[in-house]
Amino acid sequence: MRNYFIFLFLGLSVVSFAQSRSKATSLDAEVAAMAKEISADSIKSHIQKMVSFGTRHSLSDTVSATTGIGAARRWVAAKFLQFRKQSGAAMTVELDPYEITPGARTPRVPRKVTMKNVVATLKGSDPNDDRVLLVSGHLDSRASDVMDSVITAPGANDDASGVAVVLELARVMSKRKFPCTVIFMAVQGEEQGLLGARHMAGKLRAGNVNLIAMLNNDIVGNSTASETGDKNDKTIRIFSEMIPAVESEEDKKARESLKSENDSPSRQLARYIKEVSEPYTKGFTATVNMRPDRFLRGGDHTPFLQNGFIAVRFTEFNENYTQQHQTLRTENGIEYGDLPKFVDYAYAANVARINLATLASLAKAPGHPENVKMKVNLDNITYLSWEAAKSGPKPKGYYVLIRETYQPFWEKKIYVTDLKAQLSLSKDNYFFAVQAVGEKEHLSQAVMPVPLR
Ligand SMILES: [Zn+2]
Repeated sequence: MRNYFIFLFLGLSVVSFAQSRSKATSLDAEVAAMAKEISADSIKSHIQKMVSFGTRHSLSDTVSATTGIGAARRWVAAKFLQFRKQSGAAMTVELDPYEITPGARTPRVPRKVTMKNVVATLKGSDPNDDRVLLVSGHLDSRASDVMDSVITAPGANDDASGVAVVLELARVMSKRKFPCTVIFMAVQGEEQGLLGARHMAGKLRAGNVNLIAMLNNDIVGNSTASETGDKNDKTIRIFSEMIPAVESEEDKKARESLKSENDSPSRQLARYIKEVSEPYTKGFTATVNMRPDRFLRGGDHTPFLQNGFIAVRFTEFNENYTQQHQTLRTENGIEYGDLPKFVDYAYAANVARINLATLASLAKAPGHPENVKMKVNLDNITYLSWEAAKSGPKPKGYYVLIRETYQPFWEKKIYVTDLKAQLSLSKDNYFFAVQAVGEKEHLSQAVMPVPLR
């Protein structure tokens, strides 16, 4: 980054990201306390309990009290209800049913079946704040044959680890109050075709819900790679889409004229997560993987993206393919199967802390700025303007984020208290975005400008 910034408006303060990260004072004491409360033992007990249901296949038994998806759903709901007590009844719990019929869109569902998502909603403390955050994992499991609903399918890592993270977040966060609403969700039907996520995303879209971020936790508890044996228990991957799955004609035009293919709202969220959550997880980091998902894979964030929401996926850095989607067996000395003994609970706890810092930071921050615009004059000055968010805590100011066009992460930020900024920087050489700053330094998501004609 060049160091000869000249600003036409004096009095703007420029902060580099290295400086802002090293400021220990920017940590929120309540978020730090919650991160400390996240317990690997608690995650371990959640995972072991889910594995005890034998299989959680979406077409498995729904009547038994001890085996199958029905028992697993009721157990998750009972855990949420337990946490509801400490929320002072601010959290509501429901089993949200939806019927899946066999058809072209549901090749992995051979008969009509009623599936249920387990949904806990921690209502925001500010009745005027309509923002909603959602964190999800999938409750269902599978063995080698995706259609076998009877065979043992422990799914300890895929995805009891994700549901355990969601439960642990609900346990810790339900004791506190946040201005906006947080939904904790364990979905069904992921392995049969992302069915539970499709149901919820469609429902939130139909209800015009102001969902500002969806975090999908799927396969977040293993640290050692199959084949190579490489271990990494210090990194979680964040996957985010490049070009939005759906965009309005206006958004598409803006993207094409700004060449902002690396700046979808979900990519901004991924950068945000890395920036705000790493200070709460000593030595544990998040990578911004610049693709929507892993090679040939998909997940529950996908239907949310297809419904126009901002969504990312968390998955461990090293995956183990002798464990995922495998029938329990030993072959050539290799033990196959997704068993609790392979889960790194301390690792999953750190993933939960990344989620927690993200959710709490977003919840406490102002809503993101709206209608961010950039003038299209052919000159060397950049003029930006925006409006305050309609909901969320009141911002005290804004950061204009700046990076050179070849850089993956924001490099500099300029603090302004106005709803506009004028910078002596060429639009050709830099990308810009704007984020709101709360009274206690909490940051909103960053928003890219659209050209103002
Ligand atoms: Zn999964």
